[in-house]
Amino acid sequence: MFRRSANLGTGRSGRVWPVLAALLATVIIPSACMLWFMDAAMRNEALAVRQRLVEAYGSEAAEAAQRLDPYWAARAEKLTVPADWSAPRAFQRLAAAGLADGFIVRDEAGGIAYPAAHSVGPVGPARVPPALLTAAALEQDGKLTQAAAAYGALAERTSQGALAAQAAVAQARCLAKAGRKDQAIDVLVALVGAEELTEARDEEGRLIVPGAALFALQLMGDSQASGFRVVADRLAGWLNDYAGVAMASSQRRFLMAALKEVDPCAAALPTLAAEDLAAEVLARGPVEGAPGRLLAAAVPGVFLLSGDDGRVLALLRQERVLMDTSSTFDAQPLAGMRLTLTPPGGEGRGEPFLVQPAGAALPGWTLRVDLTGQDPFASASQRQRALYIWTATAGIVAVVLLALSVTYYLGRQVRLTRLKNDLIATVSHELKTPLSSIRLLIDTLLEDRYRDIEQAREYFALISKENERLTRLIDNFLNFSRMERNRRAFVLAPLSVEEILAAVMRAVPDRITQPPGQFELNMADDCLPVSGDRDALVTVVLNLLDNAYKYSRDPRRIVLRAWGRNGRLNLSVSDNGIGLSRRAARKVFDRFYQVDRNLSRAAEGCGLGLSIVKFIVEAHGGTVTVTSRVGEGSTFTVTLPTLNVLNNRRAVRQGGTDGC
Ligand code: ADP
Repeated sequence: MFRRSANLGTGRSGRVWPVLAALLATVIIPSACMLWFMDAAMRNEALAVRQRLVEAYGSEAAEAAQRLDPYWAARAEKLTVPADWSAPRAFQRLAAAGLADGFIVRDEAGGIAYPAAHSVGPVGPARVPPALLTAAALEQDGKLTQAAAAYGALAERTSQGALAAQAAVAQARCLAKAGRKDQAIDVLVALVGAEELTEARDEEGRLIVPGAALFALQLMGDSQASGFRVVADRLAGWLNDYAGVAMASSQRRFLMAALKEVDPCAAALPTLAAEDLAAEVLARGPVEGAPGRLLAAAVPGVFLLSGDDGRVLALLRQERVLMDTSSTFDAQPLAGMRLTLTPPGGEGRGEPFLVQPAGAALPGWTLRVDLTGQDPFASASQRQRALYIWTATAGIVAVVLLALSVTYYLGRQVRLTRLKNDLIATVSHELKTPLSSIRLLIDTLLEDRYRDIEQAREYFALISKENERLTRLIDNFLNFSRMERNRRAFVLAPLSVEEILAAVMRAVPDRITQPPGQFELNMADDCLPVSGDRDALVTVVLNLLDNAYKYSRDPRRIVLRAWGRNGRLNLSVSDNGIGLSRRAARKVFDRFYQVDRNLSRAAEGCGLGLSIVKFIVEAHGGTVTVTSRVGEGSTFTVTLPTLNVLNNRRAVRQGGTDGC
């Protein structure tokens, strides 16, 4: 039903938005720039920290790598042996020195001198004697006692050491098979003790007596048996002797392993592991070494280091390389880093911070740098980051505060300017109509353009009405002006509702209370006095009555009520007028707000009455509300605290202060 009025204030508020938008931009743009800058600065800082760490840790790793070359050169230097040492002796000495896990000794021609599968060529009996063949035939036929006797006779009879030793072993074998174990042991023990047969070899070049010793031990079975220890020690002595009678490394390894099996308490066999490793590497094919450089052997996890003269090749297991190398450099030269040597193909755990070659001595090996403890980028850039964050926060807060104060100041200025403009426009516009009417009427009277004295009186009455309207308008403007400047001083005094209503009834224009309209005044008995400015409260009620009259049509029905509730005095003005929409009801107390300007002007309004009402009521500690339905009417209710309530409040406040 109502179209929204061309509210001056609202209409012009459009100008404020560009200013607000500009202010918002002045906050958002610098803040965004600052955040972007801060983010970029922090990223750069992290990069710079990383770069510094890469340089520092990288140079530490490079220094460590440089120390590795001389270390392995020195290790290679130690792998030279005097030229007059035999290959087995060189092997044994190097193994005893624990310089590596295994060794290969070359001869002058570059061939493998030790460990060779056969150190000595076949030296068995040149011709098999018929007596041996006969004994062997008896053994084959299962005639073990006869075979044993035949072997024994041959052993005693022959002058050939190798044949004698071979026959004695065969005799012992037959005795053992025949169940005459003790006799077999006796034969073998006698053979082990025969110094002159120590070098006797079978047809494949193997030493016979050490084999016989092992056979004896196996027959004895128990390491506590008499003679066991003597034979075991003898055998261990031969096996550990690399300088005396030459023994094929394959036989040595076999006997060593077998001795360990029959005699868990056997004397130490310190070269066994080196022998095994060398044999394993050689079994994989030819070996190549380079002085001072660790080359991978065919056996995975084994590396070859050649001595300076190339005669000795040391075999090093990966674990030994890692252990020996770790002693050459500090694993944690700088705080926050750990250095690890990594073999070819090895990666280690997690993503390394830095990887670089371990140097010429260790081809394929790398030095890996890992970060220890907490993330150093985080800790190093944390302080800088905090500084950036605080700076940015302070900057943004400063910009926001500045923008807020500028907004507040500008808003105030805009509001004031708008108010002035609205006031001037409204005042001039509202005053113009009554002034023009008065002027027209006076001109008519001055020019004697009236029919009779009755009509002249009618014109004078109209002039008086317009004057009255002018006075009311000016009163409203003055009230408003004082109100705006906060100059309106209220003289508060205890005031009964009767006093207020009596003053209202004296001032209310007849048009409101007289027919044809219907006016009703209801006052309940429970109304308590209030503390208020009588003139101001009368202005409030008159304004509400005036509006009720202005925005109603005949037959008007206006009701003024007064009642008390919950220590409050309520004054309401109801009408059966045009009513208000919900939206309009929310805005009617705004300055210069008019639902329909044309209608309001026709009703002689200027959009200030209700804002004055609100101001006065709130200055008295009260509230004003409206309930309305379009086309049915409105009720404006003023609620004021009564004197009792005010006194109680004051007492509480004073009590609180005293308490403090
Ligand atoms: P005005 O001097 O224009 O009446 P007010 O501030 O008193 O100014 O009222 C503001 C607007 O509220 C009026 O223009 C009118 O549209 C509306 N209004 C006020 N009182 C009533 C009422 N009793 N019934 C309907 N509309 C009302």
